[in-house]
Amino acid sequence: MGTLICHTCNATIDHFEDEKVTFLYSNCECENCSQNNGDNE
Ligand SMILES: [Zn+2]
Repeated sequence: MGTLICHTCNATIDHFEDEKVTFLYSNCECENCSQNNGDNE
């Protein structure tokens, strides 16, 4: 089982079943991440 993590706030978004990877990074839709979406500062 793997874990999907928000790379902006490090929150655990979801879990998935995949034998190849343990962690995946994506963006959650929380207020903080929505504001900084697309900004790399
Ligand atoms: Zn987030």
